[in-house]
Amino acid sequence: MEIKSVSTTNTRAIFESQQRTALQLKKSGTSERIARLQKLKQTIIKYVERTVKALHDDYKKPIEESNEMDYVIGEIDFITAYLESWMKPQTVDTPEAINALAGTTGTSKIISEPKGVCLFITPWNYPFLLTFRPLISCLAAGNTIMIKPSELTPHSSAVIKQIVEDAFPEDEVAVIEGGAEVASKLLALPFNHIFYTGGSRVGKIVMRAAADHLASVTLELGGKNPAILDDSADFGDAAGKIAWGKFFNCGQTCIAPDYVLVSENRKEEFIATMKGTMEAMYGNEGPGTDNPSYARLVNANHYHRVKNLLEESVSSGGKIIAGGKTDDSENYISPTLLENVTSDHAIMKEEIFGPVLPVMTYSSLNDAIDYVNKGDRPLAVYVFTKDKVTSDLIINNTTAGGSVVNHVIMHYFSPFLPFGGVGNSGIGKGHGHFGFLDFSNQRPVLEL
Ligand code: NAD
Repeated sequence: MEIKSVSTTNTRAIFESQQRTALQLKKSGTSERIARLQKLKQTIIKYVERTVKALHDDYKKPIEESNEMDYVIGEIDFITAYLESWMKPQTVDTPEAINALAGTTGTSKIISEPKGVCLFITPWNYPFLLTFRPLISCLAAGNTIMIKPSELTPHSSAVIKQIVEDAFPEDEVAVIEGGAEVASKLLALPFNHIFYTGGSRVGKIVMRAAADHLASVTLELGGKNPAILDDSADFGDAAGKIAWGKFFNCGQTCIAPDYVLVSENRKEEFIATMKGTMEAMYGNEGPGTDNPSYARLVNANHYHRVKNLLEESVSSGGKIIAGGKTDDSENYISPTLLENVTSDHAIMKEEIFGPVLPVMTYSSLNDAIDYVNKGDRPLAVYVFTKDKVTSDLIINNTTAGGSVVNHVIMHYFSPFLPFGGVGNSGIGKGHGHFGFLDFSNQRPVLEL
């Protein structure tokens, strides 16, 4: 699929038109912003079938995993219900000391004003969800937006462009397709805020470019998310949830459990339970390339990257317990369970972002905590336990973007919870009110 290149002049013209419109949108009221969100909702509904087809064309994403737009619509409904209260200026006390200093009685309020013109650089792994969910917060906050979707999922990017062009004039929201070169040209423009989702290597490039204009940034990055089980955990329950979160979208989920930490005492039991769970889900031979319910690695580069991690681990002593089947012509790797992995294996040094689940062991919970804390701060830490002391111990002694106790991924779905990373896994929080605040300038106004 060919992506038309975009000239720098055209990109700058769109940017400048968005700067003019941003000044108008700054004055927009709740009803105007809600009307814009509702227009987007109707357009999304119209395109749902095309999004499902595009996801399949891009990497054989199964239909049962292609309901990305359901969550986008849920976010529109949530924000529509709360926007009026978020947009209201918030009156706060004025300290007597200020009144005395000024010789009058002051009033203080905080207003949320839009940041202005925003740039979105978005990823391929959930191309619709990870573009439109933040877009809703950004529109609700009253901004204009230029979006560069991922070049790795060109069918999805084309549909993103169609939806946006159907719902918005170019001076409000525009999609510019292309790869790193186009992203670099966009990053040279003086955006007021940059929202980037992807790997941390490019996240650093984005942050450096933002520094040139002192643009604020939201960086939604990745990391190695442990699932830690203590001895009280229900292994059958945990294995089902971890396998679901790990192998959904062929392991290409930023908040997927990356690896398991289980006590040495119960390792064999966990491995046997997880193997049984995987066989129940995919059969003894794995899903196979004919199974329409299992996605592929997005392209040959990512496929070979994950396959090499697996091969390197096996050649260094790692043992495949289940799966391990690959097909170069299909970018297919079957759901794989790996044991005898050590921290020296390459697979434990980078985010796997593929369907391979290494099992590591610990001798005490404090060892497990130390292991997590030696690495970069993860996007998520998952804990499986029946003991509140264990969950408190792990949560209070590690730092992560988010945590779920006795499940994985679920925190992503709640609009009442902030979503995002910390340190190497990201900067800034989104979803619900947190997303609205992220795309707003909290401006204090003191009237004396
Ligand atoms: P990536 O970082 O390669 O690409 C993401 C976007 O960056 C694309 O639009 C791409 O065109 C653009 N890009 C690539 N090179 C660029 C450059 N030199 N300058 C500017 N832009 C450039 O994406 P990836 O690494 O394949 O994505 C996977 C990563 O994304 C994983 O680490 C995953 O955990 C993370 N991720 C995080 C979240 C989250 O919400 N925190 C969500 C999805 C993915």
